[in-house]
Amino acid sequence: MEQICPNITTCNLVVRDDLGICEIDKKEYMTNYCNGDEKSWSVCTRYLTKKAINFCPDFVLPTSKMTPDEVIDKFDEVVN
Ligand code: SF4
Repeated sequence: MEQICPNITTCNLVVRDDLGICEIDKKEYMTNYCNGDEKSWSVCTRYLTKKAINFCPDFVLPTSKMTPDEVIDKFDEVVN
């Protein structure tokens, strides 16, 4: 079983500091999802989105209440 999220080295929420997420929130996401065990990261909305569509826009957070289809719809709105 994976001990940390398999996306941890590529996920923009982790590797970038310019997404407008405050340090406290980022630390909380890292603790509750990214650095947790599979039970934790496997329910992250960013993880589920990437798994479904092989990509996750920056506006999606671990706690976002969105399905991959809703993410695609919002992404289309944002880029068009
Ligand atoms: S935000 Fe989600 S997908 Fe990204 S590294 Fe953390 S648990 Fe994985």
